[in-house]
Amino acid sequence: MAGYSQESNLVNEAARRAAAYLSEVRNRPVAPAPQAIAGLHKLAGSLPPGPTDAVETVRLLDQFGSPATVATSGGRFFGFVIGGSLPAARAASILATAWDQNAALRVMSPVAAFLEDVTLGWLLDVLGLPASSGGGFVTGATMANFTCLAAARHHLLAEAGWDAEEDGLFGAPPITVVVNQESHVSVLKALALLGLGRKRVLTVPADEQGRMRAGELPKLTGPSIICMQAGNVNTGAFDPASDICRFARDHGAWVHVDGAFGLWAAAAPSRSHLVEGVAEADSWATDAHKWLNVPYDSGLAFVRHAAALRAAMSFQAAYLAPGNDREPMYWTPDASRRARGVEIWAAMHSLGRSGLADLIERTCRYAERFAAGLREAGYSILHEVVLNQVLVSFGSADLTTAVIRALQADGTCWCGGTVWKGQTAMRISVSSWATTSEDVEKSLAAMIRVAREEEKKCRKS
Ligand SMILES: *Cc1c(COP(=O)(O)O)cnc(C)c1O
Repeated sequence: MAGYSQESNLVNEAARRAAAYLSEVRNRPVAPAPQAIAGLHKLAGSLPPGPTDAVETVRLLDQFGSPATVATSGGRFFGFVIGGSLPAARAASILATAWDQNAALRVMSPVAAFLEDVTLGWLLDVLGLPASSGGGFVTGATMANFTCLAAARHHLLAEAGWDAEEDGLFGAPPITVVVNQESHVSVLKALALLGLGRKRVLTVPADEQGRMRAGELPKLTGPSIICMQAGNVNTGAFDPASDICRFARDHGAWVHVDGAFGLWAAAAPSRSHLVEGVAEADSWATDAHKWLNVPYDSGLAFVRHAAALRAAMSFQAAYLAPGNDREPMYWTPDASRRARGVEIWAAMHSLGRSGLADLIERTCRYAERFAAGLREAGYSILHEVVLNQVLVSFGSADLTTAVIRALQADGTCWCGGTVWKGQTAMRISVSSWATTSEDVEKSLAAMIRVAREEEKKCRKS
């Protein structure tokens, strides 16, 4: 049992280091210091000629790796759309790492497959989607978009008498694809991977908030897909789902929704009006690692026509024969993969319905607070704040860029930049369970202080 006790000490040692990291991460600068990044070279060099003691391996990782992380698990990271990890989900992930389950087939991991069954039901319920939808547990919304659109491709071409999986796309009836002018780039990437092309799409103009102008949808004939979004990555705006779905029904088109974070508005009573009509679509992509706050990586693909998803994703080999129940790998592009249902189960179980609603409500309120505080300080908010996203301009493009850079170096919080309708802006995305109102006030004060300093420098030069 010497091996066991050594391993047990090592796991305890790693857990102790992880706990120490978490207790410090709230108090350190959000972006790693340049010296910390430079320190990473200690992990380089040539491959050791022989084994190293595992305790030493983990020690090196902690000593030189931990300082070079971005403090996204603290409460003051507002870049991109990045959630933290709920305590129950993070702890479940540690247990799941010990399990080391392959979630491909039920026989490989009954618990992984079972937790997917359970959470698929819970997810469809809280997101307000049809209970009979098929679902796949993937790496993120990019792969979820890909997976959903593969199901759409299968379904539409099968209706036209063509087998996309067996016969490919050469000679197939063309599929018309319609996207919002403000589509997320991951939708275009998914279309590219699927042979549907980035450039052969028809683009519908968006309004000043980034919402598709549904009145300008083109007349559609033959197999068609309309890609809409629930939650624009810049403004958080929602395309008018009811209008789009009605139009699609009249034209026999498939509606796909990119709802990487926006779909979660359904779980919050004061925001659920935003997703009105979204459940009438045919497929939905979302992330669990954003607003549900599970550890990376975790995305979800849901498809109303479960059979189309299964047909697009399944493959056969005698040694991979399915049982009678849902087999995880028949619903995703992957075969072997980690048991993502574990952390999703833990996150949802620990939050409950009300806790999830509160997480969404609270982060949206913090976004409103950022917008109000920055407006009061004299800066312009470039859109209607409807969800957890805020775009602020501090004046000229150069000044706004300088403020973003200085704020990142200041370390109190972290925000990135974007360009919205030709205007350079700083993006604030409030997506983490860990953010408190003190974090918001502290970050707001830092933004205003840094902006004032940069204005002064600007005036001098
Ligand atoms: C984040 C995001 C994606 C891509 O998600 P990944 O998890 O990074 O693959 C797609 N669409 C929208 C609207 C997003 O916000």
